[in-house]
Amino acid sequence: MSDQFAIATKYWQRLDDGRIQCDVCPRACKLHEGQRGLCFVRARIDDQIKLTSYGRSSGFCVDPVEKKPLNHFLPGSAVLSFGTAGCNLACKFCQNWDISKSREVDTLASQATPDDIARVADELGCRSVAFTYNDPTIFWEYAADVADACHERGIKAISVTAGYMCPAPRAQFYRHIDAANVDLKAFTEDFYHRVCVGHLQDVLDTLVYLRHETDVWFEITTLLIPGRNDSDAEITAECEWIRENLGVDVPLHFTAFHPDYKMTDTPPTPPATLTRARRIALGEGLRFVYTGNVHDTEGGTTCCPGCGAAVVVRDWYAIRHYALTDDGRCQACGYRLPGVYDGPAEGWGRRRLPIRASLSRV
Ligand code: SF4
Repeated sequence: MSDQFAIATKYWQRLDDGRIQCDVCPRACKLHEGQRGLCFVRARIDDQIKLTSYGRSSGFCVDPVEKKPLNHFLPGSAVLSFGTAGCNLACKFCQNWDISKSREVDTLASQATPDDIARVADELGCRSVAFTYNDPTIFWEYAADVADACHERGIKAISVTAGYMCPAPRAQFYRHIDAANVDLKAFTEDFYHRVCVGHLQDVLDTLVYLRHETDVWFEITTLLIPGRNDSDAEITAECEWIRENLGVDVPLHFTAFHPDYKMTDTPPTPPATLTRARRIALGEGLRFVYTGNVHDTEGGTTCCPGCGAAVVVRDWYAIRHYALTDDGRCQACGYRLPGVYDGPAEGWGRRRLPIRASLSRV
C-alpha cells in the first residue's frame, strides 16, 4: 500500500479486540493492520486509519451547476467537477460504478493538489468546484482542503453526497461547504438495507442537520427505480417527511434510472413516473420539484411562489428563460426565491468539458 498519498485521520477508535474502528461513516469498518474499509480509500496503516487517496483524482470535467443537480445555486454557472475512487455505500444500481467501485489505483489520475484544483477552476471561469462522481464523505479531509483553497479565490464548494456520514466528521466537513445535493435514495429502510447496504435514518439525520444547523444551501435528489422505490405511497411519505422536517422550500429532484451495475435487468424509468412523482410532491405542498435525466420543460421550470410566473425555464441543463433579479427576486412581483443568487444567470449552457490531462498541464 503506497504511502505517497496517505494522510493521518482523526475519527477512529481502538477496540478491545485489537481492531481499529473507522468512525467517519455509520458503516464503522473494524480493521486489522493492512485492511481497507469498504470505501477502499481509508485503511489501517501504521496502526491508525489513514486516507490513502489525498491529492489524487479520478478525473475532472466542467459542466453546468444544474447537472449536480442544483437549480437554486448560482444558476447557469460552470462547475469544476471531480471525484476520487471508492464509495461507502454499495448501491446495486450505482450510476458511477466504474469510479465508486474502483479497486484500481490507476483510476486515479496524476496528483491534484488543492491549489492546483482551485487555480484551474479559476482559469476556466468556474464559480464552484463540486466533489462528485463518488461520495466526498470518504475523502472529506482532501475535499475540505480543496474547498479552502477555492474560497481564497472566491470559488464555492459543492458536496454531492449520499449523506451517509457520522455527526462529528460531518460537522467538521460542512464547515467548508457552501452547497450540497443529497441523494435520498428511497424512503424505506428495506431499500437502504437491501439495495444500498446502509440505513435510511442516518441520511435523514444528515438532512435535518444541514437544514437546522448549517447555512449550507442544499437540494435533494431521488433516483426513481421502477418497482423499487416509485410507489405513490413511498413518494408521498418522502414528501410529507420533507415538508414536516425540512420545510417546503427545499428543492427536490426526481431523476430517471438507467440500467447499470448490478441492476441491468431493471428497465429505465418511464418519464411518466417522474411526472407522477412531481405531481405528488407538489400536491404535498413542496414548492420546487424538478424532473431530471429526461426532456421535460415543465419539470425543469421554477415558478414564483408569489405570483406563479415561470421565472426560470430550463431545457435539459440550459436556461432558456430567466426572470429573476441579481439577488434572486421575481422580476414580476419581487418575491425572493430561496437559494444562492449573485448577479445575472450565467451562460455555461449544456456543455460538458472533460479535462483529461493532469492539472499541472492544463
Ligand atoms: S469511511 Fe470507509 S473505512 Fe470509514 S467507516 Fe465508512 S466505509 Fe468504513
